[in-house]
Amino acid sequence: MSVYLDYNASAPIDGRVLDKMIEIYRDTVGNADSRTHNHGEKAREVVETSRTQVAALLGVKADEVFFTSGATESNNIAIQGLTEYAEKTYKKHIITSSIEHKAVLETVKEMGKRGFDVDFVSPDISGRVDANRILSLVREDTLLVSLMHVNNETGIIQPVMEVGEALAEKEVLFHVDATQSCGKLVKEIRQLKYDMLSFSAHKLQGPQGIGALVMRKKGYKLPPVKNILFGGQQEHGIRPGTIPVALVAGCGLACALAASEYTKRQETNKRIKDTISQLLDNSGLEYRYNGNQDYCIENTMNICIPGVMSEALMLSTKEYCSLSNGSACNSKSYSPSYVLVAMGVPEEEIENSIRISWGADMSLEQIREHFSKLIAVAKAMKC
Ligand code: PMP
Repeated sequence: MSVYLDYNASAPIDGRVLDKMIEIYRDTVGNADSRTHNHGEKAREVVETSRTQVAALLGVKADEVFFTSGATESNNIAIQGLTEYAEKTYKKHIITSSIEHKAVLETVKEMGKRGFDVDFVSPDISGRVDANRILSLVREDTLLVSLMHVNNETGIIQPVMEVGEALAEKEVLFHVDATQSCGKLVKEIRQLKYDMLSFSAHKLQGPQGIGALVMRKKGYKLPPVKNILFGGQQEHGIRPGTIPVALVAGCGLACALAASEYTKRQETNKRIKDTISQLLDNSGLEYRYNGNQDYCIENTMNICIPGVMSEALMLSTKEYCSLSNGSACNSKSYSPSYVLVAMGVPEEEIENSIRISWGADMSLEQIREHFSKLIAVAKAMKC
């Protein structure tokens, strides 16, 4: 079996989370919003325990956490949900980066079609957008700045701290897509100043199909985000629909485990990164990193191997390693990564680039064995 090195697309579920979910599916019957019987009450308890676990990981209050189907939905609610407020206040200017995940990019583009004015800020070759450039675009009618914490393709940490700090002084809402940092940059997220934050549980070894939108209160007031789906009053009407109790329990436990293990995981992730770098360095294979590694998260690397087409490399090493050359959401057919394009990486270098992402549950031995084989194939392809 090949080694799985595509954790940024989706990380394998933690066995402890899976066990918990099976227990809930087996033993917890009912709808968490049923008021009329004990079964409903028990399901509600499970949901509220999970909400507390998510809140503890992020350093927020439980009533600031709203469960959704994942980051795509959270991003859509955080952005589209501001429409009514924007119309009322005549604030229809949005600032974002051109390297956001499609769940933000496509949403703000749609807002553009609906009469909003959107500015996209590109990074330089470091992979990092300039906080000052974002802040210089803020104007009287700016509604929202939406900036991802960590880019899913390069692993480069964006200046959300600086932007959040500056925006806290202004009447501008700040949304952070923390899908790739949640459970990893734990201390940073706890210190971060923001209004709305999105994540998906499956990126931190929870189940797929669940995540949360976090909305920070100012005094007793939530940000002026309205529901974009219509239905029941679940999640205070922000996200109508029956709450998936077992998925929510899995999300809660994944957050609790990340909260207690993130330091150890970070060390292991760093050790894995060092091992992969050493394998590459010792092989004599020419390679270079995409993005300034001083800002790269420990579980990701995006490298260019000059002269080796990434598509060909991935196809011929499928039996050793599962990796990618872009976001899974765009990978049905090959087109050059829009993230690397925005950074100014030349097209032929983009064609030679791969993303490798991993998790702390992996063994170094497994990685050494399989990644060495990938390196050998890459060397052969260059001849
Ligand atoms: N934002 C980022 C930064 C992501 O990496 C992803 C998943 N690739 C998403 C949003 C969307 O997450 P989901 O598909 O779980 O909704």
